[in-house]
Amino acid sequence: MNLLEVKNLKVHFPVKHGLFSRVKAHVKAVDEVSFTVQPGETLGLVGESGCGKTTLGRAIVKLVEPTAGSILFEGEDIAHLNGSELRLRRRNFQMIFQDPYGSLNPRMTIEQVIGEAIDIHRLAENAEARHKRIVELLQAVGLDAVHAQRYPHEFSGGQRQRIGIARALAVQPKLIVCDEPVSALDVSVQAQIINLLQDLQQQRGIAYLFIAHDLAVVEHISRRVMVMYLGKVVELAEARAIISAPKHPYTQALISAVPVVDPDSKRKRIVLPGDVPSPIAPPAGCPFHPRCPMAQLPRCQAEVPALREVTPGHWAACHFAK
Ligand code: SF4
Repeated sequence: MNLLEVKNLKVHFPVKHGLFSRVKAHVKAVDEVSFTVQPGETLGLVGESGCGKTTLGRAIVKLVEPTAGSILFEGEDIAHLNGSELRLRRRNFQMIFQDPYGSLNPRMTIEQVIGEAIDIHRLAENAEARHKRIVELLQAVGLDAVHAQRYPHEFSGGQRQRIGIARALAVQPKLIVCDEPVSALDVSVQAQIINLLQDLQQQRGIAYLFIAHDLAVVEHISRRVMVMYLGKVVELAEARAIISAPKHPYTQALISAVPVVDPDSKRKRIVLPGDVPSPIAPPAGCPFHPRCPMAQLPRCQAEVPALREVTPGHWAACHFAK
């Protein structure tokens, strides 16, 4: 069974205007997105900033309310759950954030930060078991028992991200949405955090939805990769297939921008014209057509390309992908 199955998910935010705050338009941050995540797998999610990837991650862990569609977690639709029902399920899916400092309360010790999650879900019988569990979690992420009584400002960026991971692990989740967890860290620290996430996945069988703008990081950690553009999935395939033979012109441009070490490489950088259009009024037809170097008018301007399985396991939303 799929651990997670997202079907036709939409997250649209109203844009209000004027004296009476009338809804003038909608930002289509996530628009008709469907995909699955298997138990214990890592699905990478890439795209430029503003493409909807963070909103999608937040919708899955129910930090934002979906407008339509379903989010099946182990077969149960959690898309519109609220209150105590949601709280009960929430221990199955957690999130770690790009800015670990911003997600940690500066007035709480690390014991309080991690203990809070244990308390909400009543995962320790008494104070002694709670403390033991917190120390185990700190050690699991490469920290020490002495760190429990310290405050977030006493740690480096990498250590804070380890604390964020320990807090997520405290409730024994089956899925963690990792929202750019290494983008704010130095390169050497990035590798340590990626290795830690991989070790924890092997030991505990956790699945990750790993959001990043850096394709090299995503390729390293993911089994499959999904590419988003203007709120839609434009390509989804095994990581190796997407990096070596991308089928969508947008993915081809993203990959061409990744620096290559091989001096004999003949890869040419594809520079896309213009900026990503506003998600309030996305272009008609293929939303990528105003920037696409392969666009063929009038078809690309008039017809929305469906996300179709172009070769086994390799999906792309382009009329001409083959
Ligand atoms: Fe480019 Fe047309 Fe394919 Fe869209 S459908 S990606 S505009 S070629």
